[in-house]
Amino acid sequence: MQIDILTLFPKMFESPFAEGIIKRAIDKEKLSIDFLNFRKYSEDNYGSVDDYPYGGAAGMILKPEPIFKAVDELREKRKEYFNSDQFPLYYLTPQGEKFDQEMAKELSKKDYFALLAGRYKDVDYRVREHLVRREISIGDYVLSGGELPAMVIVDAIARLQKGVLSDFESAETDSFHNQQIDCPYYTRPREYRGYEVPEVLLSGNHKKIADWQEKKRKELTKKFRNINLNE
Ligand code: SAM
Repeated sequence: MQIDILTLFPKMFESPFAEGIIKRAIDKEKLSIDFLNFRKYSEDNYGSVDDYPYGGAAGMILKPEPIFKAVDELREKRKEYFNSDQFPLYYLTPQGEKFDQEMAKELSKKDYFALLAGRYKDVDYRVREHLVRREISIGDYVLSGGELPAMVIVDAIARLQKGVLSDFESAETDSFHNQQIDCPYYTRPREYRGYEVPEVLLSGNHKKIADWQEKKRKELTKKFRNINLNE
Protein backbone atom coordinates (compact mmCIF):
# COMPACT_ATOMS: atom_id res chain seq x y z
CA MET A 1 0.00 0.00 0.00
CA GLN A 2 1.26 3.45 -0.90
CA ILE A 3 0.38 6.65 0.99
CA ASP A 4 1.57 10.12 0.03
CA ILE A 5 1.46 12.85 2.65
CA LEU A 6 1.33 16.46 1.53
CA THR A 7 2.79 18.52 4.35
CA LEU A 8 4.82 21.62 5.10
CA PHE A 9 6.55 19.75 7.95
CA PRO A 10 7.79 16.35 6.74
CA LYS A 11 10.46 16.24 9.48
CA MET A 12 7.71 15.84 12.08
CA PHE A 13 7.20 12.28 10.80
CA GLU A 14 10.79 11.10 11.09
CA SER A 15 10.79 9.66 14.58
CA PRO A 16 7.24 8.23 14.73
CA PHE A 17 7.72 6.44 11.41
CA ALA A 18 11.15 5.08 12.37
CA GLU A 19 9.88 3.04 15.34
CA GLY A 20 7.55 0.20 16.21
CA ILE A 21 4.71 -1.08 14.07
CA ILE A 22 4.90 1.60 11.36
CA LYS A 23 8.59 0.85 10.84
CA ARG A 24 7.81 -2.87 10.77
CA ALA A 25 5.10 -2.34 8.13
CA ILE A 26 7.54 -0.31 6.03
CA ASP A 27 10.39 -2.81 6.47
CA LYS A 28 8.10 -5.67 5.45
CA GLU A 29 7.06 -3.66 2.38
CA LYS A 30 3.41 -3.72 3.41
CA LEU A 31 3.39 0.05 3.48
CA SER A 32 5.30 2.73 1.63
CA ILE A 33 5.01 6.37 2.64
CA ASP A 34 6.31 9.39 0.77
CA PHE A 35 6.16 13.05 1.65
CA LEU A 36 5.59 15.96 -0.63
CA ASN A 37 6.33 19.37 0.80
CA PHE A 38 4.10 21.57 -1.31
CA ARG A 39 6.21 24.60 -0.38
CA LYS A 40 8.33 23.56 -3.35
CA TYR A 41 5.50 24.88 -5.53
CA SER A 42 5.44 28.29 -3.90
CA GLU A 43 5.27 30.93 -6.59
CA ASP A 44 7.48 33.57 -4.97
CA ASN A 45 11.11 33.89 -3.89
CA TYR A 46 10.23 33.68 -0.20
CA GLY A 47 8.63 30.25 -0.45
CA SER A 48 5.34 31.55 0.87
CA VAL A 49 2.34 29.26 0.74
CA ASP A 50 -0.22 31.31 2.67
CA ASP A 51 -2.00 34.62 2.30
CA TYR A 52 -4.64 36.82 3.96
CA PRO A 53 -8.25 35.73 3.63
CA TYR A 54 -10.50 37.68 1.27
CA GLY A 55 -13.15 39.55 3.20
CA GLY A 56 -10.92 39.72 6.27
CA ALA A 57 -10.65 37.33 9.20
CA ALA A 58 -8.06 36.31 11.74
CA GLY A 59 -5.43 33.89 10.46
CA MET A 60 -3.78 32.97 7.19
CA ILE A 61 -5.06 30.70 4.45
CA LEU A 62 -3.04 28.14 2.49
CA LYS A 63 -2.93 29.29 -1.12
CA PRO A 64 -4.40 27.01 -3.78
CA GLU A 65 -1.58 27.04 -6.37
CA PRO A 66 1.09 25.03 -4.46
CA ILE A 67 -1.46 22.37 -3.49
CA PHE A 68 -2.98 22.05 -6.97
CA LYS A 69 0.53 21.74 -8.45
CA ALA A 70 1.61 19.19 -5.86
CA VAL A 71 -1.46 17.11 -6.73
CA ASP A 72 -0.64 17.44 -10.46
CA GLU A 73 2.77 15.91 -9.65
CA LEU A 74 1.20 13.02 -7.72
CA ARG A 75 -1.52 12.46 -10.31
CA GLU A 76 1.21 11.79 -12.85
CA LYS A 77 3.52 9.86 -10.51
CA ARG A 78 0.81 7.55 -9.13
CA LYS A 79 -1.35 7.09 -12.17
CA GLU A 80 -1.08 3.29 -12.03
CA TYR A 81 -3.17 3.35 -8.85
CA PHE A 82 -6.40 5.01 -9.96
CA ASN A 83 -8.67 5.46 -12.96
CA SER A 84 -9.55 8.67 -14.70
CA ASP A 85 -9.31 11.94 -12.81
CA GLN A 86 -10.48 10.57 -9.45
CA PHE A 87 -7.28 11.32 -7.56
CA PRO A 88 -7.83 10.08 -3.99
CA LEU A 89 -6.83 13.16 -2.01
CA TYR A 90 -8.10 13.16 1.57
CA TYR A 91 -8.00 16.40 3.52
CA LEU A 92 -7.45 16.26 7.28
CA THR A 93 -9.80 18.70 8.94
CA PRO A 94 -11.68 18.82 12.25
CA GLN A 95 -14.81 19.37 10.15
CA GLY A 96 -14.52 16.00 8.38
CA GLU A 97 -16.02 12.56 8.77
CA LYS A 98 -14.87 11.07 12.10
CA PHE A 99 -12.03 8.60 11.85
CA ASP A 100 -12.74 5.33 13.68
CA GLN A 101 -11.78 1.66 13.52
CA GLU A 102 -14.29 1.00 10.73
CA MET A 103 -12.69 3.71 8.61
CA ALA A 104 -9.23 2.40 9.50
CA LYS A 105 -10.28 -1.05 8.23
CA GLU A 106 -11.72 0.44 5.07
CA LEU A 107 -8.63 2.57 4.34
CA SER A 108 -6.28 -0.31 5.15
CA LYS A 109 -7.65 -2.20 2.11
CA LYS A 110 -6.82 0.56 -0.37
CA ASP A 111 -3.78 0.41 -2.63
CA TYR A 112 -3.23 4.14 -2.60
CA PHE A 113 -4.39 7.49 -1.27
CA ALA A 114 -2.87 10.85 -0.39
CA LEU A 115 -3.39 12.81 2.82
CA LEU A 116 -3.29 16.60 2.85
CA ALA A 117 -2.17 18.08 6.17
CA GLY A 118 -3.50 21.61 6.57
CA ARG A 119 -1.98 24.43 8.63
CA TYR A 120 -2.94 27.94 9.75
CA LYS A 121 -6.61 28.95 9.54
CA ASP A 122 -7.47 26.56 6.70
CA VAL A 123 -6.81 25.84 3.03
CA ASP A 124 -8.37 27.93 0.28
CA TYR A 125 -11.82 26.41 -0.06
CA ARG A 126 -11.32 25.73 -3.79
CA VAL A 127 -8.88 22.98 -2.80
CA ARG A 128 -11.67 21.35 -0.84
CA GLU A 129 -14.26 21.95 -3.53
CA HIS A 130 -12.27 20.79 -6.54
CA LEU A 131 -9.39 18.54 -5.41
CA VAL A 132 -10.34 16.84 -2.19
CA ARG A 133 -12.40 13.66 -2.41
CA ARG A 134 -12.88 13.02 1.26
CA GLU A 135 -12.47 14.97 4.52
CA ILE A 136 -11.34 13.21 7.66
CA SER A 137 -11.26 14.36 11.29
CA ILE A 138 -9.57 12.53 14.14
CA GLY A 139 -11.94 14.10 16.67
CA ASP A 140 -13.84 17.17 17.74
CA TYR A 141 -10.89 19.31 18.80
CA VAL A 142 -8.57 21.59 16.88
CA LEU A 143 -4.88 20.84 16.44
CA SER A 144 -2.35 23.18 14.87
CA GLY A 145 -1.85 21.05 11.80
CA GLY A 146 -2.79 17.86 9.98
CA GLU A 147 0.53 16.13 10.67
CA LEU A 148 -0.50 14.47 13.94
CA PRO A 149 -3.83 13.33 12.44
CA ALA A 150 -1.90 11.86 9.48
CA MET A 151 0.33 9.93 11.91
CA VAL A 152 -2.70 8.64 13.80
CA ILE A 153 -4.32 7.39 10.61
CA VAL A 154 -1.13 5.80 9.27
CA ASP A 155 -0.52 4.00 12.57
CA ALA A 156 -4.08 2.63 12.71
CA ILE A 157 -3.76 1.42 9.11
CA ALA A 158 -0.22 0.02 9.41
CA ARG A 159 -1.20 -2.39 12.17
CA LEU A 160 -4.07 -3.74 10.04
CA GLN A 161 -1.82 -4.72 7.13
CA LYS A 162 -1.63 -8.50 6.90
CA GLY A 163 1.59 -9.89 8.36
CA VAL A 164 2.53 -6.76 10.30
CA LEU A 165 1.25 -7.76 13.73
CA SER A 166 2.17 -11.15 15.08
CA ASP A 167 -0.68 -13.44 16.18
CA PHE A 168 0.25 -12.48 19.67
CA GLU A 169 -0.55 -8.83 19.02
CA SER A 170 -3.54 -9.58 16.80
CA ALA A 171 -5.77 -6.61 16.00
CA GLU A 172 -8.80 -8.87 16.01
CA THR A 173 -9.08 -8.88 19.78
CA ASP A 174 -8.54 -5.13 20.11
CA SER A 175 -11.26 -2.69 21.06
CA PHE A 176 -13.70 -1.63 18.33
CA HIS A 177 -12.85 -4.55 16.09
CA ASN A 178 -16.40 -5.72 16.69
CA GLN A 179 -17.84 -2.56 18.16
CA GLN A 180 -16.95 -3.67 21.66
CA ILE A 181 -14.28 -2.49 24.10
CA ASP A 182 -11.58 -5.00 24.94
CA CYS A 183 -11.45 -6.83 28.29
CA PRO A 184 -8.91 -6.15 31.09
CA TYR A 185 -5.57 -7.95 31.03
CA TYR A 186 -3.19 -8.80 33.89
CA THR A 187 0.31 -10.25 34.05
CA ARG A 188 2.71 -11.47 36.73
CA PRO A 189 3.06 -11.05 39.68
CA ARG A 190 -0.30 -12.45 40.74
CA GLU A 191 -0.31 -10.15 43.77
CA TYR A 192 1.31 -6.70 43.84
CA ARG A 193 1.07 -4.31 46.81
CA GLY A 194 -1.92 -6.32 47.93
CA TYR A 195 -3.67 -5.99 44.56
CA GLU A 196 -4.75 -9.39 43.29
CA VAL A 197 -5.29 -10.72 39.80
CA PRO A 198 -8.93 -11.95 39.39
CA GLU A 199 -9.07 -15.56 40.54
CA VAL A 200 -10.81 -16.83 37.40
CA LEU A 201 -7.78 -15.94 35.24
CA LEU A 202 -5.63 -18.27 37.33
CA SER A 203 -8.13 -21.12 37.22
CA GLY A 204 -6.85 -22.72 34.01
CA ASN A 205 -10.51 -23.23 32.99
CA HIS A 206 -10.61 -21.88 29.42
CA LYS A 207 -14.39 -21.80 29.19
CA LYS A 208 -14.71 -19.84 32.45
CA ILE A 209 -11.96 -17.44 31.36
CA ALA A 210 -13.57 -16.83 27.96
CA ASP A 211 -16.96 -16.21 29.63
CA TRP A 212 -15.38 -13.76 32.09
CA GLN A 213 -13.61 -11.89 29.27
CA GLU A 214 -16.83 -11.68 27.28
CA LYS A 215 -18.73 -10.41 30.32
CA LYS A 216 -16.05 -7.73 30.92
CA ARG A 217 -16.13 -6.64 27.26
CA LYS A 218 -19.88 -6.15 27.54
CA GLU A 219 -19.63 -4.30 30.87
CA LEU A 220 -16.91 -1.95 29.62
CA THR A 221 -18.68 -1.29 26.32
CA LYS A 222 -21.79 -0.31 28.28
CA LYS A 223 -19.77 1.78 30.74
CA PHE A 224 -17.56 3.69 28.27
CA ARG A 225 -19.72 3.81 25.13
CA ASN A 226 -23.20 3.26 26.57
CA ILE A 227 -23.77 0.45 24.07
CA ASN A 228 -25.65 -2.59 25.32
CA LEU A 229 -24.24 -5.62 23.51
CA ASN A 230 -26.85 -7.92 25.05
CA GLU A 231 -29.66 -6.30 23.07
N1 SAM B 1 -10.02 26.75 11.11
C1 SAM B 1 -10.13 25.32 11.07
C2 SAM B 1 -11.48 24.90 11.58
O1 SAM B 1 -12.01 25.58 12.47
O2 SAM B 1 -12.02 23.86 11.13
C3 SAM B 1 -9.04 24.65 11.92
C4 SAM B 1 -7.67 24.82 11.36
S1 SAM B 1 -6.44 23.98 12.26
C5 SAM B 1 -5.80 25.27 13.27
C6 SAM B 1 -5.16 23.76 11.09
C7 SAM B 1 -5.15 22.41 10.40
O3 SAM B 1 -4.94 21.39 11.35
C8 SAM B 1 -6.40 22.02 9.69
O4 SAM B 1 -6.48 22.60 8.41
C9 SAM B 1 -6.29 20.51 9.62
O5 SAM B 1 -5.51 20.08 8.51
C10 SAM B 1 -5.55 20.19 10.90
N2 SAM B 1 -6.42 19.68 11.98
C11 SAM B 1 -6.66 20.31 13.15
N3 SAM B 1 -7.47 19.60 13.93
C12 SAM B 1 -7.76 18.46 13.25
C13 SAM B 1 -8.57 17.32 13.54
N4 SAM B 1 -9.25 17.22 14.68
N5 SAM B 1 -8.62 16.33 12.62
C14 SAM B 1 -7.94 16.43 11.45
N6 SAM B 1 -7.18 17.50 11.12
C15 SAM B 1 -7.08 18.50 12.00
